[in-house]
Amino acid sequence: MGQGMSCGGAAHDHGLFSAAQFGESEMVMSALRDDPSLVCATTPHDRQSLLHVAAANGQTELVSMLLDRNMNTDLLNRHKQTPLMVAAMHGRTSCVEKLLDAGANVLVFDSLHGRTCLHYAAYYGHSECLKAILSSARTSRVATSWGYARFVNIRDGKGATPLHLAARQRWPECVHALLDSGALVCASTGGDGYPGSTPLHLAARGGSIDCIRELLARGADRLQRDASGRIPHLVALKYKHGACAALLNPAAAEPLVWPSPLKFINELNQEAKALLERAFMEAGKEREKSILKLTGFLLPSPSHSDSSMEDDISESSNAELCCICFEQACNIQVQNCGHQMCAHCTLSLCCHNKPNPTTSSLNPPVCPFCRSTIARLSVVEVRNKDEADNDVGDISPSISRKPRKSRNFSCSEGGSSSSSSSSSLKGLSALGKISGRGPGRIAADTECDDKP
Ligand SMILES: [Zn+2]
Ligand SMILES: [Zn+2]
Repeated sequence: MGQGMSCGGAAHDHGLFSAAQFGESEMVMSALRDDPSLVCATTPHDRQSLLHVAAANGQTELVSMLLDRNMNTDLLNRHKQTPLMVAAMHGRTSCVEKLLDAGANVLVFDSLHGRTCLHYAAYYGHSECLKAILSSARTSRVATSWGYARFVNIRDGKGATPLHLAARQRWPECVHALLDSGALVCASTGGDGYPGSTPLHLAARGGSIDCIRELLARGADRLQRDASGRIPHLVALKYKHGACAALLNPAAAEPLVWPSPLKFINELNQEAKALLERAFMEAGKEREKSILKLTGFLLPSPSHSDSSMEDDISESSNAELCCICFEQACNIQVQNCGHQMCAHCTLSLCCHNKPNPTTSSLNPPVCPFCRSTIARLSVVEVRNKDEADNDVGDISPSISRKPRKSRNFSCSEGGSSSSSSSSSLKGLSALGKISGRGPGRIAADTECDDKP
């Protein structure tokens, strides 16, 4: 008895740890008052501390109390796992936050696979824990000493970044959050310059279309080879993920790539970004459908994209129809000219197929209505009737819209084709085709003639 106590203390049995497990904070704290050396107590086999046990079981209150007693945040168990790692492993977001607030070290590597807390959150798919760790790392001393980008792309003992693990384990939300935070989409497990698997290889192996979509949207390379010389397409075939293989087939249409290099996309506020991202993902799904239709596969969850499309329509009942596609509501406003269009059409202006390095240029797109360079995008505020009645005094400038007529294409400009405007229109018609909204929707000149 008592052999599990790493630093003396009375021969307490496991009662203390089961109290910690079930969150009986008072019992644990009074035991600690009676015998302060119990802060060092650990379980016999795995050498878990009280903080490990409380964090793994989501006992936030007890975690707080232990931290208030200045308990070491970075105690290691038998596998050199910290309480932060086990909290991230079990998806205990509030415990993760408490530990981070108390200064827990995010840069500890376990002795099992050389993984950090970020790897744990990514591997087990706990996106909220993952985001909490990322946001803490962004502002902590890790960012200054190690570099935030380096932390996001940190490798485990086998060279896998958190993005590799999330893609392999089929967690699209974690994949998304990591890519948003600067995870390298083409990182190779082989390390610098050596062949290895990319996150796309591992997503192909895991068979998650959602993960593959996220990775392709950020420019993942379908032609990169792993250590065995295989492209992701072959990996998907090997593991019998037919639909994934169809999308990864280099012969299938090039994926749309999220235009994050464009300055104004990076500067979008959260609301505008979310709108555009949703439109982007919908366009990607439409593209997938057409590829899969050709190859005879069905998307596993068609209901998902359909329901979000319906949301768009019901939400938009009060908004004006987009003058480009005449299908979606205007919800994005171009600055500085104030012209409006839908998120789908906005994206088709900014989206490009995977850029060809020899020809790609990142000229900012221009407003399709007035040809002025787009400096900024904002969300159109659509007010429903109740709100409009309630605050008549509010004259926010973002609500005052330009008259509808002024937003129509000017026919006289149809002939002018500067290189940038023609390329943006090309992008627009490309998306029209891909999203199945019918080609020619953007035939500005004919629309102009038909409209009164
Ligand atoms: Zn539109
Ligand atoms: Zn304009």
